[in-house]
Amino acid sequence: MPKTIALVAHDQRKDALVAWARTHEAALGAHALYATGTTGGRINAETALSVTALKSGPLGGDAQIGAMIAEGRLDALVFFIDPLTAMPHDVDVKSLLRLAILYDTLLAVNEASANMLLRGGLAD
Ligand code: PGA
Repeated sequence: MPKTIALVAHDQRKDALVAWARTHEAALGAHALYATGTTGGRINAETALSVTALKSGPLGGDAQIGAMIAEGRLDALVFFIDPLTAMPHDVDVKSLLRLAILYDTLLAVNEASANMLLRGGLAD
């Protein structure tokens, strides 16, 4: 059954997320995909996938995805976080992670966990 998945990557991790999405195009294509603005634009341009791009993360995109979680409209979040760079929108990042934890949303923050999520986590 198709799930709703959000894809988000910080700037230094966007290449990795686009590459991961391209590798898993067939599996991801079966689901409804959302992304923050810049991440979504790159996935739409550089893969065969079609994602709904929300606002850019620092401009409210993280909050939009957080709202989807709070409203029960998101099944999984793949969020490639940059662990080496301070973010001006750190409060939004923390809020999004907090909501994903609070609502027990499937959450992957790097390639290894994203692979696991696709392999098993989305099964009904
Ligand atoms: P972006 O947002 O995809 O618009 O760059 C990602 C983020 O939350 O920093």
